[in-house]
Amino acid sequence: MILSQTMQEITINQVDPHNYDVIIAGGGAGSLLTALALSSKGKKVLILEKQNRLGGVWHGYWVDGYRVDQGLHVITRVKRGAFARFLRNYLDPVPEFVLHEGWFFRVHDKVGTIPTSIGGTLRWPLTGTRGRLGLAKIGAKIKTMKLEEMQKYKDITFLKFMRARGATNQVMLDVMQSAIYMAAGVPIDRASAYESLRTLRDTDKESSKLDSAKKLLFGSDEYDEGIAIGGMQHLVDRVVDTISGDYVLNAEVEKITEHNGSVHNLTASGVELVHSTIVSDIPLWSMSKIVTSDKPEAIRFFQNWDHMLFTRGVTLWLGLDKIVIGDRKSRVIVHPRPETWLISLSSFDPSCAPEGKELLGIAAILPEGRTPQEIVEQIKANGLKKYYPEVLEHTEMEHVQSSYATRAALIPGQTDLDRPGPETPIKGLYIVGTDTAGAGVGLQQAANSAEGVLKALGFAK
Ligand SMILES: Cc1cc2nc3c(=O)[nH]c(=O)nc-3n(C[C@H](O)[C@H](O)[C@H](O)COP(=O)(O)OP(=O)(O)OC[C@H]3O[C@@H](n4cnc5c(N)ncnc54)[C@H](O)[C@@H]3O)c2cc1C
Repeated sequence: MILSQTMQEITINQVDPHNYDVIIAGGGAGSLLTALALSSKGKKVLILEKQNRLGGVWHGYWVDGYRVDQGLHVITRVKRGAFARFLRNYLDPVPEFVLHEGWFFRVHDKVGTIPTSIGGTLRWPLTGTRGRLGLAKIGAKIKTMKLEEMQKYKDITFLKFMRARGATNQVMLDVMQSAIYMAAGVPIDRASAYESLRTLRDTDKESSKLDSAKKLLFGSDEYDEGIAIGGMQHLVDRVVDTISGDYVLNAEVEKITEHNGSVHNLTASGVELVHSTIVSDIPLWSMSKIVTSDKPEAIRFFQNWDHMLFTRGVTLWLGLDKIVIGDRKSRVIVHPRPETWLISLSSFDPSCAPEGKELLGIAAILPEGRTPQEIVEQIKANGLKKYYPEVLEHTEMEHVQSSYATRAALIPGQTDLDRPGPETPIKGLYIVGTDTAGAGVGLQQAANSAEGVLKALGFAK
């Protein structure tokens, strides 16, 4: 059922907890998608958000006439998967996405895509014959691997997995490094092999065996990755406008209290709200300081995630005074370091740049110990100056962002098989968000976690 109503902003002193079926702490993607689905079931929610806006890192805004997102949001799976399901089931009209024309990896002076078939692999321009044969062998292995087999490799790194199979061609590893870096948030010597294999394989229960065999032999030019028309903020606003309930901004949840094994109340901005169903979208690494419980099991449950490793990204936005790139390809500069993704956003969505101008988003991972400015300088000096000097000559707007992208880097111990949600040892307290449960990365992961909560609450299959 699709409803159309606008969530109202109220103050913490206006809250009467009896008015709501569920209280949600934190207003990120996991929270909003949960609230969206609950609204369609006729439930009323209250969202308490510590910042002065909803959305968390799912967010967009204007800079000098250009509309930027928080991060370079290329949505993996806009036709299939949990995120697409939420949009399709609960928003009318369904938001529009534009597919890009594929990922192009630059290794020094050569450019190629990730081959999707054995035929494509044997013609791969980025390496010589020996490298191609090695890639064909490991590619065929990965393409035919079942999810259950991948799960066996959750506690080893992707690099270890590759080395064990003699897949050591450096160019191939460098390209994989770039592809997996963005999904896992860490390099291949730290990323879980299971999560990396899933990213490369794009495990898809919806494909038939025949489809898989065809793709293996002949490849596929079908990309299920896209950019949202209207940007992220438009999408967030659409979701918020369809939720039934109220929200309070600048309301930090300071305490969630358990009593006799069940959740009893929470305190936000000094106000205690008694409720028996609370969903928390607060990062797991701060939950042990927020949850007050007599149950040692509950304390251990949250303390276990105090040091969760998250992914950190840098996005460099450049507004150009003319169209320089002008196509829908996503480019990855593999060499020289750092691995850098470059996309012309205005080629997908002209409304994000003034007419005749161009908006480029360039994303990189922020490794530990490095500053965003260092990475930006490296992107400009190594990548742009060498391969796209015209971009630098025509830059009239420059804007740098840095934040966590997802709350759980996909390393051994933090794969979707390890993460704890949606239920907690406290009855009535559920957890949602990218670090709690749910496969995939980013919004897909947030949507998967929201589906988990809905199921736990008894509202989904
Ligand atoms: C640079 C970047 C690039 C990205 N690229 C992509 C992409 O290409 N594709 C993709 O699918 N996804 C991408 N994402 C990821 C995606 O946007 C996030 O993973 C997702 O939005 C996170 O959702 P979450 O539910 O974990 O919530 P979060 O965004 O972590 O939200 C948590 C909310 O809780 C609030 N909060 C925290 N503590 C409290 C408290 N004590 N009381 C009250 N409120 C509290 C926070 O303020 C926040 O609003 C990207 C994100 C970034 C930043």
